[in-house]
Amino acid sequence: MDNVESKGGVLSVVGIGPGSHDLIAPAVLKAIEEGDLVIGYRTYMLLVRSLVKGKETVKTGMTEEVGRAQMAIDEAKKGRRVVLISSGDAGVYGMAGLVFECLKNSGWRRGDDPELRIIPGISAINACASLVGAPLCHDSCMISLSDLLTPWDVIEKRIDAAASADFVICLYNPASGRRQRQIVRAAEIISRYRSPDTPVALVKSAYRTREKIRMSDLANFLEYEIGMLTSVLIGSSQTYMFEGYMVTPRGYANKYHRDGTVREGQVPGISLRPEILPQFQERKEEPKWQ
Ligand code: SAH
Repeated sequence: MDNVESKGGVLSVVGIGPGSHDLIAPAVLKAIEEGDLVIGYRTYMLLVRSLVKGKETVKTGMTEEVGRAQMAIDEAKKGRRVVLISSGDAGVYGMAGLVFECLKNSGWRRGDDPELRIIPGISAINACASLVGAPLCHDSCMISLSDLLTPWDVIEKRIDAAASADFVICLYNPASGRRQRQIVRAAEIISRYRSPDTPVALVKSAYRTREKIRMSDLANFLEYEIGMLTSVLIGSSQTYMFEGYMVTPRGYANKYHRDGTVREGQVPGISLRPEILPQFQERKEEPKWQ
């Protein structure tokens, strides 16, 4: 990629993180600052209202995702700098996938207008994990319990597979006012494979003013309020509670003594030194749009 400023339109698809401004990536802040038009779901636009002051904005309702994506593409095609906002990361149950579907349908090819920039954000899984300890230090997965766009039997199959393979599971969209059945069913399935005292964290509105954290376990977590703004982190068989923190060990304790020497029967790790592996050397070029 060359380093020439784009003359045509630019569509930046960005994630604004969980809610607080200090968790928005600087590259996203820059895209918003340079944007002519900022489009997003009403609630997320409220979260960034002080950053979009004086800019043209379009705030839409929750079910208007396709219209929002299409409008962003159309306006960027006219030569504008459009910023399309998702919460968390735009590529995790966010607008980035939908933008690609719209572009694909319209026959867009890489290199065509508008130029596409996808800028990452801190997803709910990372934000929620940081508030409860270190629950993701071994293999984990995300599953959305929303069956609006995915058939429920597919979701059940994934819950079952993740539970049987002992992944730490982060449930997105666990429930809403009308939709409560799915989280009950998910708990049933996971309980087939995990003990009732498996740690479970419920994090509502992480890094927002109404943040609420509840630590519970697999046998009891359904007693608490779970809604649209909650993420549910369910531990693996290795996850434990320590001083109120939820921790999934990486496994060092199995391999090393506390003084760093290797336990009997274990092979010490090899450090990936950059002089050996050139592909791990520090990135020298800035991304094109910076
Ligand atoms: N793109 C977003 C996810 C959108 S799906 C991301 O990467 O985080 C919406 C779901 O995400 C919610 O139902 C909830 O489960 C989770 N979520 C989003 N923001 C959250 C927050 N601040 N605190 C807790 N959960 C959150």
